Amino acid sequence: MAKLTPQSWLVAAGRPQEPGSPLNVPPVPASNYSMGGKRVYSRDGSTPTWEALEEIVGGLEGGDAIAFSSGMAAAAAVFDQLDAGALITLPSDCYQGVAGLALDGASKGRWRVERIAVEQTTAWVEAASKADLLWLESPSNPLLAIADLKTICAAPRKPGAILAVDNTFATPLNQSPLKLGADVSMHSATKFIGGHSDLLAGLLVTKDAALLENFRQSRTLGGSTPGALEAFLAVRGLRTLALRLATAQENAGRLAQWLESHPGVELVRYPGLKSHPSHAMAAGQLDGFGSMISFDVKGGADSADEVCRQLRLIRHATSLGGVESTMERRAANEGQEYLPDALLRLSVGIESFEDLRADLATALAVVSE
Ligand SMILES: *Cc1c(COP(=O)(O)O)cnc(C)c1O
Repeated sequence: MAKLTPQSWLVAAGRPQEPGSPLNVPPVPASNYSMGGKRVYSRDGSTPTWEALEEIVGGLEGGDAIAFSSGMAAAAAVFDQLDAGALITLPSDCYQGVAGLALDGASKGRWRVERIAVEQTTAWVEAASKADLLWLESPSNPLLAIADLKTICAAPRKPGAILAVDNTFATPLNQSPLKLGADVSMHSATKFIGGHSDLLAGLLVTKDAALLENFRQSRTLGGSTPGALEAFLAVRGLRTLALRLATAQENAGRLAQWLESHPGVELVRYPGLKSHPSHAMAAGQLDGFGSMISFDVKGGADSADEVCRQLRLIRHATSLGGVESTMERRAANEGQEYLPDALLRLSVGIESFEDLRADLATALAVVSE
């Protein structure tokens, strides 16, 4: 296909091309295939549905993609590449499941883990020469910290080391880690790629053919293949990603500004705000500031919990990246006790800005200043 803009690629890629074929790749719930063709057994190979998902996301990020049963399954396939005793450098703020995976393996003596704050570029550059796996997440979940990916990716690495970036918050539209010099881009497709809170899936993208083969082997041997319906839904979600993201991040930019001037709010973290400590770098590195906001309300945990109970339009729920806005107090989650008690993470959806602002205004009225 001629070089398309990302918006058109999302619509056009991953479609069957034979005359008479359906426009959309169907969910193919196959474990095995009749002998004599290219497919034998799905777990060892693939299905047309997984391949459509991989084609779309790989093409967007400038590499080859491989799909998994969840974002964590994708992350686990990266960790699976490590030799015994390897050193992992992990952000001090990152998705708590990935931190949990790293710390669990460390407690079993499989590897060692060193944590560095996302924004401490010099420390990451120094870590690059020692670590076997550099795992970055930018913007980070949930503190929305920005890593200087270009500088860190350019730092000399230990031979054979892997630099992976969790690109879930940015989406393939707002950031291309491979173009910034990362070896691997990882997605929880459960979030923005699926976009409707109705599936679990994950993806890894890389330009390194050997690494791709190793990830494929991890998927085959670990059995972390995506479901047929999930891959179908993820492809369907991708068709509208550009529209969903544009609306959601426009809403988020306006809500972040409004929240910043609200008397019940202590602090707003959103890379699009001038007050964000890495705003200038975010503006250079990202094609959009995304639709995730985290903000601290006055009055501590009780006050934040009460705000969540008052919501009517925004769903009081975990997870993110859906068409519907969701909000929760993150420090209530296991492994997230390090966060400010009253930090609320808001995943902004595609409802109207006016309705979202009104819902937040009503909910925040319970905060005593
Ligand atoms: C949700 C999430 C994951 C894990 O993905 P699952 O699909 O839930 O396994 C990893 N990283 C980030 C940033 C996430 O938000």
